[in-house]
Amino acid sequence: MTIGPFINIEGAVDVHVHSEPDLFPRIADDVGVARHAASLGLRALSLKCHSERTTSRAYMTMQQVPGIQVVGGIVLNRAVGAINPAAVEAALQLGGRHVWMPTVDAANHARTFGSTGVYDKQASTVTKAADAGIEVFDEAGKPIEGLIDVLDLTAQYSAILSTCHLSVPEIKLLVSTARERGVEKIMITHPFFKVPALDLDTLKQLVDQGAYAEFGYCTVSPMWNHAPLTRVVEAISALGPERCILMSDAGQRHNPMPAECLRVFAQSVYESGISEEGVERMIKGNPLDLLELLPPPARAVPLERAGAALDGDGDRRAVPVAGGGEAS
Ligand SMILES: [Zn+2]
Repeated sequence: MTIGPFINIEGAVDVHVHSEPDLFPRIADDVGVARHAASLGLRALSLKCHSERTTSRAYMTMQQVPGIQVVGGIVLNRAVGAINPAAVEAALQLGGRHVWMPTVDAANHARTFGSTGVYDKQASTVTKAADAGIEVFDEAGKPIEGLIDVLDLTAQYSAILSTCHLSVPEIKLLVSTARERGVEKIMITHPFFKVPALDLDTLKQLVDQGAYAEFGYCTVSPMWNHAPLTRVVEAISALGPERCILMSDAGQRHNPMPAECLRVFAQSVYESGISEEGVERMIKGNPLDLLELLPPPARAVPLERAGAALDGDGDRRAVPVAGGGEAS
């Protein structure tokens, strides 16, 4: 008998969640997404805001929501002074675990969507079409002022460097420069999202240099649809789950709550042919390693919580109501 294909997200980590307060519309605030994630049994989540560091938000959220680790970091956009070593050092000393490269203020983002602060699907309240955006290497391929210091701080604090919305040439330079500076933990952010729109061969080269591919539900979600799920599954098969991470990149109002996005994404990847062990590695083992968190003690699969059970074929079905007898 085969175990039913129902991925258990108890103990999972979502390394990329967007919540209020933000300059983009969001489905819930920090406490709301953390409460929901904790109710589904998630072990940890990382709050990512394009416009401010989230370290103190993470700390305060943990005071409100017991049972889940909430992690913060800093996105190096205009609001924090872009590639700003002083801001990075403060964020890391305040407990930040993520150093995110520019996102909606990256030059590559501005070129792709016509302005900073804007996507093809939603806009923030701070958009500047006249801003060419942030480039982290100059035309000669030299790191801009501050970048080496940012990389050195990231290495020193053993934090996670993410490539975010930089261009493909910038990402290639960044990964090799970061490795030279001793950065051990690198995530290639949503590779098949329109920014950066990496191809699989390039992604493989980056992973071969020690980076992880970080795939987000938002990329394949109905509203964004920047890539089909099949491309993600093909990439995971090629790279191996040991070098991949699944996360939600959710918080948009047109997507479900982030932890549910992670569950649906993990379940979909599993049903597309990636092993249960591989999926577990991508939602638990790898992110736990990168965040240096211990896995929770093993517990029984809480099927009842999801309001569903598995039938003999492993398909999900409604739990029969009391006195209703077995479903046929
Ligand atoms: Zn995101």
